[in-house]
Amino acid sequence: MLNLVLFGPPGAGKGTQAKFLEQRYQLRQLSTGDMLRSAIAKQTPLGVEAKGYMNRGELVPDEKVVGVISECLDEYRDAKGFIFDGFPRTTVQAVQLDRMLAERGERIEGMLLLNVPNDELLKRLMLRGRESGRADDQDESIILNRIKVYEDQTKPVADFYSAQGKLWVIEGVGAVSEITARLEAVIDTLLK
Ligand code: ADP
Repeated sequence: MLNLVLFGPPGAGKGTQAKFLEQRYQLRQLSTGDMLRSAIAKQTPLGVEAKGYMNRGELVPDEKVVGVISECLDEYRDAKGFIFDGFPRTTVQAVQLDRMLAERGERIEGMLLLNVPNDELLKRLMLRGRESGRADDQDESIILNRIKVYEDQTKPVADFYSAQGKLWVIEGVGAVSEITARLEAVIDTLLK
């Protein structure tokens, strides 16, 4: 299996790039944000609980998202590998992910961090809010809160993988296809 974490602040382009990498390497994208939005749309108990956190730009409790990922690992046991998108978002989640993979004889091969400055993130998310109608992209203060949550709670996850020698930093500004090529260059190195 090839298991990758696609990492970066909100608006870094993780979802966009994950779609290309999924195709190219036959991996399965696991986006906790997409799964939570789908749970909200279906009004499942998870969705009902997650909605408030997401609309305020806060993180959904660790045990909830860890549970969702654990179910996916079982459901897609035959996958060639996973691209984790938007997960892990806290060090607790990262530790749990290592544990869940180890239990299955697997591990994370690399974390790919998309580096994008905050002013560019704000611009992208405001635009996405207008185009997609996503609730948490509608309001500048909610977006700024998500960026702050990233800085405070999520960024330390990069140190966790860096300590394992697995962190790759990729410039996330430029044409989408250029950024895809940068990511592919790293993944091809990991595959060698
Ligand atoms: P973005 O990267 O633009 O913030 P996501 O779809 O990844 O978009 O996440 C949207 C929201 O979903 C987050 O602000 C958070 O409330 C919730 N969420 C997604 N993934 C996680 C996670 N791993 N842990 C906690 N909350 C999460």
